Amino acid sequence: MARIGVLALQGDVSEHVQALERAAAGKAQVVGVRKPGQIEECQALVLPGGESTTICRQLQSSGLTEELKAAALSGKPILATCAGLVLISQEVEGDNKVRPLGLMDIKISRNAFGPQRESFEADLQVKGLNRPYRAVFIRAPAICEVGREVEVLARVGEAVVAARQKNLLALAFHPELTEDARIHQIFLKMLEA
Ligand code: GLN
Repeated sequence: MARIGVLALQGDVSEHVQALERAAAGKAQVVGVRKPGQIEECQALVLPGGESTTICRQLQSSGLTEELKAAALSGKPILATCAGLVLISQEVEGDNKVRPLGLMDIKISRNAFGPQRESFEADLQVKGLNRPYRAVFIRAPAICEVGREVEVLARVGEAVVAARQKNLLALAFHPELTEDARIHQIFLKMLEA
């Protein structure tokens, strides 16, 4: 059975564990990842939403950074949501509080939807899904530039809010906070490839 790790340093950890367990319906084991050695034992990884500055700091002190980079480079599927998306980006626009890992060829803007839209919901047209997906955004980042290898999957206005680069699936919203399991299912499918 596939083992999926959820980076469990800070943020929406239990929500992702539960959403993945629902979506996998017994076909995957989902575990929290906190210590060196655990990422290697997983076939896929989730980087949850939360506070990217905190997760960034804790990644360094936990000694997980190199393992995480190696997992991404080896082709393991990685689902990065919200703060997770900030972490895997190449560049964070106008902000030096987070040092991104540079795994995905995207430039992002933190808290891009402004204070008056701290959180909101939107019906997204997501490439590959045949009806709209109701997405929850919380102090969400936006992807403002994408590299050539990056496939745009959804937008809100001009802003890219879902994208894929090979084994990396990055979302500005929180699929773990809604009942609709279709995004987690896309991720689980990446494990079969
Ligand atoms: N604004 C947060 C950050 O940049 C992300 C918010 C979230 O993950 N819900 O860290």
